[in-house]
Formats: sequence, C-alpha cells, structure tokens
Amino acid sequence: CFITFEGGEGAGKSTQIARLATWLRTGADGPREVVTTREPGGSPRAERIRGAVLSGIAKPYGPFAEALLFAAARLDHLATLIRPGLARGAIVLCDRFSDSTRAYQGAAGGVDAETLAALERVVVGATRPDLTLILDLPPEIGLARARRRDRAQGPDRFEAEALSFHQRLRAAFLAIAAAEPARCVVIDAQDAPDAVAQAIRAAVASRLPH
Ligand code: C5P
Repeated sequence: CFITFEGGEGAGKSTQIARLATWLRTGADGPREVVTTREPGGSPRAERIRGAVLSGIAKPYGPFAEALLFAAARLDHLATLIRPGLARGAIVLCDRFSDSTRAYQGAAGGVDAETLAALERVVVGATRPDLTLILDLPPEIGLARARRRDRAQGPDRFEAEALSFHQRLRAAFLAIAAAEPARCVVIDAQDAPDAVAQAIRAAVASRLPH
C-alpha cells in the first residue's frame, strides 16, 4: 500500500507521517512493516540530487530542468526503496511525490501539465499512490510555521518566493484532489496535531486492505 503526503510549507507532513507510522506499526491487526521516506530524495543517490537542486544548481535552467533532475531522483527512489518495499507487502509512506512536481514545477513553476504527465508516465508507470493525503492550510499560516521551524538554520529560504507562489501551490493541490477524489483526501491541517492525526487515521483505515 503506497500512501503519499502532499501540501505546502509548514503543513505538518513530517510530524504526521511519523505519527501515522507509529500507529500503523502497532496496529490492532498485528505488526506491519512500514517504510517512511521523502521526496525529493529518499534514497542515497536521490538525496544527492535533492541537495544539488535545493542548493540552486538548476536555477539558471528553470523549473523544467528541476523537474528532470527530480525525475531522475524519483527513478532511483522508486527502484531502490519504494518498489522493493511494496513488493514485500510493506506500507510505504512518502512525504511528497508526483503531486509536488505538478504543483511546484507545474502550477507554480509554469511547466506545462502535459509535459509533466508524460514524465510521470515514464518514471512512475504503474506505481501510483493508492492514497494521497493533502494537508491543506492557508499559506500565511504554513509559512509562519515553517519559518519558526527553520529559524536556527540560517537565511529564510522562502523569502524569494511571493505569497502568490504559495497560493498557486495550494490551489494546485486542491485542484488535484478535486480531479482525483478516489485517490486524494484533503485534510484540514489548521486543526490541532491530534485532530489532524485522527483525520488521517480515519482516511487510512477506510482504505487499507485487511
Ligand atoms: O517538504 P520539504 O520541506 O522537505 O520540501 C523541500 C523543498 O523542496 C520545498 O520547500 C520545495 O521548495 C521544494 N520542492 C520543489 N519541487 C518539488 C518538491 C519539493 O521545489 N517537486
């Protein structure tokens, strides 16, 4: 079972993934193997690509080059971690996946949707998420949370992006959820962490194969 978490900055994805993993591992149906991972990155080679792209190596070439580099990272991540985990019967929880490419490089970055869909067909193939949890909140609130979290780590990495960039991201995730209701569940990430965790468990429990 392949579950992805999506959303803008400061939505609480990593906290909620850790909580869901603990809940699934100790579930009433007996112990289950749970693999937690993230994108961009998730495997040693893909993490190197993440580091390079987030440090700005693709900036001069624009969002399409970023999408290609993240696609290369995803290819490795799928081959070395995600597909082997799914083949063992593990539940794989991934922090960001293809929907982030659609939102960041597509809706917010301007790469056309058909190009990204073609890339997704080639790279992801049939390994599409069974369930995608979209942690939704107003970007003003998410950015304030993310800045609090990052404060010790140097310059503000969101400073260069206008609020409208983050508003486009939010709209893109909500549009994906509306277009693919069988796969996506929107979770109100403004709620208290316990309430968010509860909503996520309910969404997962109703879809996990027993
Ligand atoms: O979710 P996380 O904070 O780990 O994401 C790291 C950063 O990677 C995000 O802040 C975002 O700017 C960037 N990103 C991106 N394109 C993607 C996925 C993530 O630009 N497809």
